[in-house]
Amino acid sequence: MFSPVSILVVTALSSILSILVLISLLSHAIAGVPRWLWANVLAIVSLVLFAVQSVAPAWLGIVTANQLLAATSLLIYEGCNEFFDVRMRRAQRWTGWIMWLGVMAGIVYFTYVVPDAHARVVIVSAFHAACDLAIAGRVLLERPKERPRYNYLFVAGAASLGTLGHTIRGAIYVVKPPAQEALLQPGPMQITFLALGILVLPSLCIGLVLMAHDRLAQRLERLARFDDLTGALSRKALLAAAAERLARVPQEGKRVYVAVIDVDHFKSVNDRYGHAAGDEVLRHFASLVRSRVREDDAFGRIGGEEFCLFCTAERLEDVTALVERLRRDVEATPCGVPGGVLHYTFSAGIAVWDGREPLASLMARADSLLYAAKIAGRNRVKAPADALI
Ligand code: GH3
Ligand code: MG
Ligand code: MG
Repeated sequence: MFSPVSILVVTALSSILSILVLISLLSHAIAGVPRWLWANVLAIVSLVLFAVQSVAPAWLGIVTANQLLAATSLLIYEGCNEFFDVRMRRAQRWTGWIMWLGVMAGIVYFTYVVPDAHARVVIVSAFHAACDLAIAGRVLLERPKERPRYNYLFVAGAASLGTLGHTIRGAIYVVKPPAQEALLQPGPMQITFLALGILVLPSLCIGLVLMAHDRLAQRLERLARFDDLTGALSRKALLAAAAERLARVPQEGKRVYVAVIDVDHFKSVNDRYGHAAGDEVLRHFASLVRSRVREDDAFGRIGGEEFCLFCTAERLEDVTALVERLRRDVEATPCGVPGGVLHYTFSAGIAVWDGREPLASLMARADSLLYAAKIAGRNRVKAPADALI
């Protein structure tokens, strides 16, 4: 039942399935996927060559088969580097392929010059163990910490299993080589190793597909969470962040504040300089505010040229001073647009949460102060005179 050839065929079939699944990801332009795809193509050719090893010439059944399988591991590793956008120095990038050439030299030497199947197994096992270890390490180090861990640990687990299997196999061939010489001889050692292969390669590919799907989910979540023009929180995400702040147990002596901010005379920016310049102003404004507010503050775009900032502070004066500083910075920092630079200003209304009222009523109070700031001449910040502080 467990003949080596049938195990090789099943593993090759699983690589065909991996290719079909990876093809479905190609249109999403996820870095690393093309390499993972090619890795499986090489794996299939290699596994077929291993399966016909007993009838094929040594250069095909031994040298080429081993080199293609070694290239499979290396391509998977390189795909992981691309996936995580790991920038390698030129020398580092070629290290793997230089080792791969070293493996080839070793296999050729121990096939034709001093024929020694055990030495070949040791060399090949060491190479695969190193690649699998590098894959596991890369995924564990680079996995995005804010994402669910499962998919990444799955890949790291499969690669670690590969490392363990190849290390044990290599060690056995160093210490006490089994009686069977060829891969296709159905001894317990070969069967165990091939069975591990049937587990590791497909598991690794399933894990890589899971990682790629997590990347897609991440993109969609980002699209829903952030306003794509300005990078500020989207209206939906901002309101959710605000509701979460109102629901939090208030920190000792702190209150929640909201500032509703609206760019002044924005319509005339569009009319005079064009819509693209208007967009540039919105980006400029959002990036300036983001660079000046704290990590814990929630800043988002609620529509058009209107933004909102939620923060917690001890005193209304602190929030007013922050928004006033922003106003001065915006006034003093012109925005570069095609054809020149453009000065613009904003008006803002600030409200403090009374601890009970719904979010909509808090924002409506800030909005009416914003309106008062506009009526008063724009380029100013209005805070409640009878502040609840
Ligand atoms: P005020 O000082 O009273 O706020 O006047 P305003 O001109 O800023 O306000 P108004 O509401 O009259 O105009 C807002 C303009 O913002 C109208 C709309 O075309 C423009 N706008 C809304 N969204 C965008 C956008 O994403 N990009 C650009 N360029 N313009 C936008
Ligand atoms: Mg406006
Ligand atoms: Mg407006």
